Amino acid sequence: MMSLLQDQVAIVTGAGRGIGEAIAKQLASLGAQVAVISRTEGNSKKTADAICEAGGFARAYAEDVANYQAVQNLGERILSDFKKVDILVNNAGVTRDTLLLRMTTEQWDEVLDTNLKGAFNFIKAVIRSMTKQRSGRIINITSVIGLIGNAGQANYAASKAGLIGLTKSVAREFAGRNITVNAVAPGFIDTDMTAVLAGDWREKITEQIPLGRIGKVEDIAAAVAFLAGPQASYITGQVLTVDGGMVM
Ligand code: NDP
Repeated sequence: MMSLLQDQVAIVTGAGRGIGEAIAKQLASLGAQVAVISRTEGNSKKTADAICEAGGFARAYAEDVANYQAVQNLGERILSDFKKVDILVNNAGVTRDTLLLRMTTEQWDEVLDTNLKGAFNFIKAVIRSMTKQRSGRIINITSVIGLIGNAGQANYAASKAGLIGLTKSVAREFAGRNITVNAVAPGFIDTDMTAVLAGDWREKITEQIPLGRIGKVEDIAAAVAFLAGPQASYITGQVLTVDGGMVM
């Protein structure tokens, strides 16, 4: 179990905090070398340092995933630093919640550009190299909100539903090259993103979760590690919901 991902190279976006940090650490603990990406250098460095201190291998990079050209350049840099990329986890995401009547085009664009275009940008940056090596795993972090929608999150829900369409289309395009593309849809997970939710959300949400608890970042990291590992080689184009049974 310890070395399921030995000699594999993984990119994890949004890995400076929260779910992405847990994914980067989990993949590293299974033997993968990890390119840790976040918007701010301090956060990606913190995650990469923790991985190295635990005996793994990681390098930190800071970039805005929404910037197409910057991401292509970063992809080349990572390919030069690590020589290959086997696993891409598109996890970076933001919320700019408000009701549609109040939503500005800036709030719409920021969420779509980060959550959806950011994934497109990274897939474009690594897909040729995966195609050449005739193997690859792409895992996009969507959300249960992309499946069921949510008042006050039209931009976020659209970006996460879009990620599901992107996942299935790219899965079909590259299955012949032995590249699998899947999505993980978390429910409510304890991170900075949910810490800003108002008032008694925790109690209200917990009531709607059959397993009776808010999710942990490790719950999502475990699902991603499974989809990145050898036991998931015959799974592609799927959305794995990890939400304590909230959406079924
Ligand atoms: P956090 O807000 O805790 O962390 C977000 C991470 O994404 C940070 O590392 C941040 O970088 C990075 N990031 C944000 N914007 C950019 C950008 N433009 N370029 C590069 N990096 C960026 O989020 P979570 O860990 O909670 O969420 C991770 C993913 O999981 C998101 O896609 C989210 O939508 C999804 N999700 C989360 C759920 C939850 O309940 N928490 C539920 C369902 C889905 P930095 O640290 O430098 O600021």
